[in-house]
Amino acid sequence: MEIIETNLKFKDMDTRKSTNRIIVHHSACSNCTPEKIHQWHLARGWAGAGYHFLVRKDGKKYRLRPEDKVGAHAYGANYDSIGICAEGNFMEEQMPEVQKNSIKELVAYLKDKYGIDKVQGHKEVNATSCPRNKLSIR
Ligand SMILES: [Zn+2]
Repeated sequence: MEIIETNLKFKDMDTRKSTNRIIVHHSACSNCTPEKIHQWHLARGWAGAGYHFLVRKDGKKYRLRPEDKVGAHAYGANYDSIGICAEGNFMEEQMPEVQKNSIKELVAYLKDKYGIDKVQGHKEVNATSCPRNKLSIR
């Protein structure tokens, strides 16, 4: 499985003490690069991109925030989770099969790596429409 490394520069972040779950998001924008997400999150005053991974519509997987750092993607649930963002606004579009399969592959890899089984949508931990019902990747 290939994860594309990015050259994003982050501010100081805490190291995550435990990893118990994976939380999945959608980007809510139809076309977004790793750099664009990073800039948005920097502009919010965060250390940089809040998700650990971005899976684009072509199925390519990008590393955003270093995997061992506390994310900024799900309020109150960042301390023990890895955040995956799917590029797209799935309130309005259908997820391409190649992207869905890529997310499944990444989720399976992370489950195995950390010996965990819990996968949640963002909406399961916060009041949000993210990532919407169509995104069923378990
Ligand atoms: Zn979300």
